[in-house]
Amino acid sequence: MQYNVSFDIAAILVLIVLAVGMNTVLYTDSSGAKLVRRYVYCVLITAALDIVTAYTITYGASIPDPANLILNTLYQLSSMCCVAVAMSTIFSYYPGISRQAAMINKVPLFLLTILIVANLFTGILFRFSNGEYIHGPLFLMTYILSLVIVFHAFFVVFKNRKDRPAIMSRIVLLFLFLPTVFAIIQMLLGDTLLVPFGDAFSALIMLFALETPDYRKLMKTMSELEAAKEEANIANHTKSDFLASMSHEIRTPINGILGMDTMILRDCDDPQIVEYAENIRIAGNGLLSIINDILDLSKIESGKMELVPVKYDLFTVLNDCYQMNRMRASENGLDFSIENDPDMPSEYFGDVVRIRQIFNNLISNGVKYTKEGSVKVKVTCRDIADPGEHDDGEYLDLVISVEDTGIGIKEEDMEKLFESFTRLDEGRNNNIEGTGLGLRITHQLIDMMKGSVDVKSEYQKGSVFTVTIPQRVVGHRCMGDFAARLREHIAVAKGKVEVFKAPGKKVLIVDDVKMNVLVFKGLLRGTEMQIDSALSGSEAIEMTKYAKYDIIFMDHLMPEMDGIEAFHRIRDDKDNINHDTPVVVLTANAIVGVREKYMREGFIDYVSKPVEQKTLLNTLGTVLSDSLGG
Ligand code: ADP
Repeated sequence: MQYNVSFDIAAILVLIVLAVGMNTVLYTDSSGAKLVRRYVYCVLITAALDIVTAYTITYGASIPDPANLILNTLYQLSSMCCVAVAMSTIFSYYPGISRQAAMINKVPLFLLTILIVANLFTGILFRFSNGEYIHGPLFLMTYILSLVIVFHAFFVVFKNRKDRPAIMSRIVLLFLFLPTVFAIIQMLLGDTLLVPFGDAFSALIMLFALETPDYRKLMKTMSELEAAKEEANIANHTKSDFLASMSHEIRTPINGILGMDTMILRDCDDPQIVEYAENIRIAGNGLLSIINDILDLSKIESGKMELVPVKYDLFTVLNDCYQMNRMRASENGLDFSIENDPDMPSEYFGDVVRIRQIFNNLISNGVKYTKEGSVKVKVTCRDIADPGEHDDGEYLDLVISVEDTGIGIKEEDMEKLFESFTRLDEGRNNNIEGTGLGLRITHQLIDMMKGSVDVKSEYQKGSVFTVTIPQRVVGHRCMGDFAARLREHIAVAKGKVEVFKAPGKKVLIVDDVKMNVLVFKGLLRGTEMQIDSALSGSEAIEMTKYAKYDIIFMDHLMPEMDGIEAFHRIRDDKDNINHDTPVVVLTANAIVGVREKYMREGFIDYVSKPVEQKTLLNTLGTVLSDSLGG
């Protein structure tokens, strides 16, 4: 048979250019480049031997059989060297490839060597008889073992592809794929020798794609960046962990200080000391809210923040936000209003504490950064933008927009708005309290809830913050008009209710919304009872250690420690003088069956929020009935 060796000749020309290039202009001494050079030399020798053996097989009659056998054996051995060097080259790019995987690849190579050498004496692969090339019984083994080597390498590179940039793995896989394809075509065509050409071609790709000096520099920079990123991540985690534990540790003594301060405010008659204590209370609460922000942020950043979804009533959330901000708004002389779509559902399932935090942050910023004019809050809902994301019930997008006529934000500051510890326009804002953490936390929480935030602002004219949060709807009761319901509620609260007197009785009210506490105290004015308050579960625990109460009103949903946990901690601490004090839970969950749930927890009763004077006095009367004389 006459072989077509033109591809071998082309391969030799390409390889000579490559060999010269790699030893001159493209010279690098990286281990990869050394291996590619070695591969080029091997393929060069193999291509030359391929041409020689093509002629010795064709003109076998004029060459002694043993000489032909030796030449073909040399060809087989040099092909095998090409495969071995190719494998080492590939594996050298993946430091993650285990020794075991590399060893497995050497087994078929070793078997192949034994077969080729054994063939010299046995003719199991091929032999020559009177100048004729005859296949031995194991002739196909050379192809099978080569395929095993290549497929194993494919598998190993594919498995380790994540260790290296995607483009690198693609090139390496191409490097494996090309010679295999050329070998298969050669088998199909029979008389055209293509394998060395495929090898030369893949060496060319390897050299220009992976072994040029620029590429190597890029790879080095990338791996340095990768290592730096890893280090920064570890440092950031350590920082977040430290901040989280530090703020947690600081909160406990602050709660102690605030608890004791409340006692001073209650028991002291000296106006000067009361003023000092009031200042301690204001500063302490400010400090507590900063610590809470830091704790929240570090929790979010270290991935430890979890959303705790519960069933809630949106009206109560808006009422809380309204109560929290109305005082400051009226001090600033602002027109402060909350409007809503009256037909929107009122009951949702979500992390209400965090929802309230988001709403309140936007509203309180609006009020803080507006000196005159208005802060208008609008709440609506609409069909969910991305229904595919939520398949566990009916979802709606809750949309809240807060529009103020305040100081506005400069165009160039917009992108810094959601960064940590960033306060914009410091010159104008330095008399307004804040840490620059609120919006960062808000943004992160919105992300966690798969919502979005949009800001439009005109410097010195005002801003509009619009937040969209997908929420599961759990009840189709319409919310009604917020403003009208609020007016109604105030009218009921103001209506004449017969107030009983219980002088000497002590009540503790625990609610994280200060305004709710003030309202609560207002409702009990006239009862002549002594009313203490705590703004968190931990502050309540601290206070109950020092004063015996006749009744405790505990809000259920509070950040950090909810009312149920605080209640159990008081109840389970037998040394606490209030461990058997009746506790009434305050809740927004005005739904059927909830009463039983709270009773099972051990609460004596429950009062739904917003609290109405009549209900509150009734509950109080029932609980205190023994001491009031029935
Ligand atoms: P801060 O505790 O400082 O209020 P935030 O993270 O809530 O922190 O807000 C970051 C900064 O964004 C604020 O310091 C303020 O400069 C700016 N900002 C936020 N809300 C408004 C707003 N409604 N109008 C004008 N500027 C605002």
